[in-house]
Amino acid sequence: MRKKKKNYQKLKKPGVKKGDIVKILCGKDRGKQGRILSVDYQRSRITVEGVNIAKKAIRPSQQSPKGGIIDMALPVHISNVKLICPKCNQPTRVIRKKINERRHRVCNREKCNEIIDKV
Ligand SMILES: [Zn+2]
Repeated sequence: MRKKKKNYQKLKKPGVKKGDIVKILCGKDRGKQGRILSVDYQRSRITVEGVNIAKKAIRPSQQSPKGGIIDMALPVHISNVKLICPKCNQPTRVIRKKINERRHRVCNREKCNEIIDKV
């Protein structure tokens, strides 16, 4: 009998999650800050409030009887953003640390090193 090879796809969990404030590093919205509205772990993309806005024409429907043009936030790649540490207010790289048997996200800046939250 042949052994079945299990093909687990390991998803690298990004250091950011919904509700975090991030800074945009690339593109037309470089330097902007915004709150993460949604995270797509599979595609490593996130949608940030007020960033990468595109105009979209929509047809009249029940939700918007008049139709017209709406602003829509398009997802940006996760590597294009940096988390703003809530403690030191600086863009930082998040590291994961185990403290008291629990995993935490920790600010990676030397002077800060604050625990951001539980993972
Ligand atoms: Zn910090």
